[in-house]
Amino acid sequence: KVELKKVVDDSYDILIGHNLKRTLVEDISNGLLGKIKKFAIITDTNVLDIYAQPIYDLLVEKNYKADIFIVQAGEKSKTRETKSKIEDAMLEKGYRRDCAVIAIGGGVVSDLAGFLAGTYGRGVPFITYATTLLAAADASIGGKTAVDTPLATNLIGLFNQPKKVYIDLEAWKTLPDRQMYSGMAETIKHACMASKELFDFLQKNMEKIYSNDITACEYIANYNCEIKYKVVMKDERESGLREVLNLGHTFGRAIETVSDYRLLHGEAVAIGLVAQAYLAKEKGYMTESDVKKVIALLKKANLPTEIPEYIDREKLIEKLYTDKKVRDGKLRFVLEKGIGDVVCFGENLYATPISEEEIRNIINN
Ligand code: NAD
Ligand code: ZN
Repeated sequence: KVELKKVVDDSYDILIGHNLKRTLVEDISNGLLGKIKKFAIITDTNVLDIYAQPIYDLLVEKNYKADIFIVQAGEKSKTRETKSKIEDAMLEKGYRRDCAVIAIGGGVVSDLAGFLAGTYGRGVPFITYATTLLAAADASIGGKTAVDTPLATNLIGLFNQPKKVYIDLEAWKTLPDRQMYSGMAETIKHACMASKELFDFLQKNMEKIYSNDITACEYIANYNCEIKYKVVMKDERESGLREVLNLGHTFGRAIETVSDYRLLHGEAVAIGLVAQAYLAKEKGYMTESDVKKVIALLKKANLPTEIPEYIDREKLIEKLYTDKKVRDGKLRFVLEKGIGDVVCFGENLYATPISEEEIRNIINN
């Protein structure tokens, strides 16, 4: 049994461990959420039986009132409509302001449930039980919550910090391989932007992580949290530093959308990391050999590294212009400085303008 580790403790804890269902319920008994006795568990159809139901049972065993609200698994559920449906169901069941929300699942569930908790009764507390690597590495930390609408992803929402985040490494065992790889892309992003040490670890230990070696999984979970937490807590509302998290994402998000979600988020980010590494090389911030190392690591992680043939290049460029870093009509990118660092272009400035011609060179080569 692995020791539980606390990564940080300011406004809330992030707890990394194996099977934390009981710990979560014990924390509640011990007053994590004050006197609250009513819990709205929000989960999805894949996570229900393995994680949500057992936590529900433990809560009921302790005489708490709880209900499970289930959404269909997948990004398509992250909508205003789903949010309203759950709110109505909660109202019908008599949930008022004296309740808390427990999000159990991946990033879709935590984004949706976190947003819902922030507006239900003008805000009730919530905790997150992250069951995917992507949620562990990224979505569960930082307090961004949102839903998608037909015109924009992740734009309607709010900053809302959970009271505690549980990262269950055991959950990675039931995660489909492709989802695990997708989460790995965010881990590789963290390594590229902030830690050569993590990068080297991933190079040496990818197989171990993918075969659920406890020590290796714990190592990356801790590292991911530390990096994301440090960045977001310094810059919760994206005034500058938080832009570094966009490494690989300017291209990544555009590719994801143009692929019409045939590519998972992490797969698109992997391709974006390569494209942005080439940009950095063109600008003289990365050597050819560093770029090759990034590509080799992504391949080792079973991630794609090239823009698929079916992606319409013109649409891709058009989509890039919808990025939120665009300023005065110019595309801006975060660039790596070697491996494990990003270029700082001025005080609190981590993205730099890149011409469309430079982009075309990357896309077409
Ligand atoms: P997800 O929540 O859709 O989970 C991926 C799939 O795995 C789903 O089908 C889910 O049902 C299934 N699943 C989850 N846990 C499982 C388990 N332990 N065993 C078996 N199956 C399991 O997606 P995700 O990749 O976790 O997160 C992506 C979402 O996160 C996107 O909506 C993205 O916008 C959001 N996100 C948010 C932030 C943020 O800062 N708020 C950051 C990154 C990503
Ligand atoms: Zn991402």
